[in-house]
Amino acid sequence: MTARIREFLKHRTQDGPCLVLDLDVVRENYQSFAKALPDTKVFYAVKANPAPEILKLLAGLGSCFDVASMSETHDVLAAGATPDRISYGNTIKKESEIAAAFALGITLFAVDCEAEVEKVARAAPGSRVICRIHCDGSGSEWPLSRKFGCEPAYAADILELAHKRGLVAHGVSFHVGSQQHNVEAWDRALASTASVFRACTERGITLAMVNLGGGFPARYVRKTPKLESYGKAIFRSLRKHFGNALPETIVEPGRGLVGNAGVIEAEVVLITKRSPEDEVRWVYLDIGKFHGLAETIDESIRYPIRTTHDRDEMAPCIIAGPTCDSVDVLYEKTHYPLPVSLAIGDKVLIEATGAYTATYSSIGFNGYPPLRQYLI
Ligand SMILES: *Cc1c(COP(=O)(O)O)cnc(C)c1O
Repeated sequence: MTARIREFLKHRTQDGPCLVLDLDVVRENYQSFAKALPDTKVFYAVKANPAPEILKLLAGLGSCFDVASMSETHDVLAAGATPDRISYGNTIKKESEIAAAFALGITLFAVDCEAEVEKVARAAPGSRVICRIHCDGSGSEWPLSRKFGCEPAYAADILELAHKRGLVAHGVSFHVGSQQHNVEAWDRALASTASVFRACTERGITLAMVNLGGGFPARYVRKTPKLESYGKAIFRSLRKHFGNALPETIVEPGRGLVGNAGVIEAEVVLITKRSPEDEVRWVYLDIGKFHGLAETIDESIRYPIRTTHDRDEMAPCIIAGPTCDSVDVLYEKTHYPLPVSLAIGDKVLIEATGAYTATYSSIGFNGYPPLRQYLI
């Protein structure tokens, strides 16, 4: 919560929940990445928050971008970034999309299987490809495992096929899982990456780049290590597995760049107990799983929730959204402590909600409009 956000909310007159994002925080975060990983280029993972103001700010700061679709590609180009600063990082693309991206000048694509190499070879001849290897996501709160990435032992075959098809076998990528708490999580992936580099060298192919992915955390309820510790651990692992022949490296932070820049203001709609002797209150907010808080699925992400009564006595609550769907419950398995004095009509602040919220909001389920976002 920054002074600018507090000031903005003080003067806001509109009703309904909203996300307020302070662009100064995004700028500071970008600079922190540059400092923690000085020789590593930042490719912002656009899906975390594609607001044009964020893209424009980052484009102006010299950032590159990781996109997953043509719509994201158009947004990044409109923000002023040139195509050579875009990596098409989605491993699941239609051939028509690859062709469209290539026509706009994009020549860096992620793949994780032979069929995708064939598509890129046909639709974007001569482009650079990065092969994504599988990571199990342990230590992270929002794993991206299984769906993406080949077994590391198979990566050299995929890259060799790319080479044979006239593409540039450019490197290896992985994602250690989003909101990764373990600063050493990159070590095992980098060991596998180095072995892919060696296997390719033996086949006469020289890889150049390692894409270290995302995973850098935002600060939610649970404490997280400093970005600096991640940078140091990653650099140690690079040295350990690559020696002096350090590859070119890039990172693709999403959550770590914008998560802590945003705050959602919401309102308490109802507080009740299911029976008079119940200890636990149900607290219903005017925002839920369908309005941007999708990452509370399985109670994975536990957002800090602030009220104006936080110095009062606390008691456990179940927190839910306002819609008529029973999955629209945010925290139930692990009760959430809220002040006993919390009342219907009170405003609450849901902190560190700058990433993976606004675009997850439904377009109108139960008549609730999409989450409004203000960029200041
Ligand atoms: C989502 C995504 C990211 C961003 O991950 P964070 O954990 O939010 O930093 C980076 N790279 C790829 C390929 C992604 O899909």
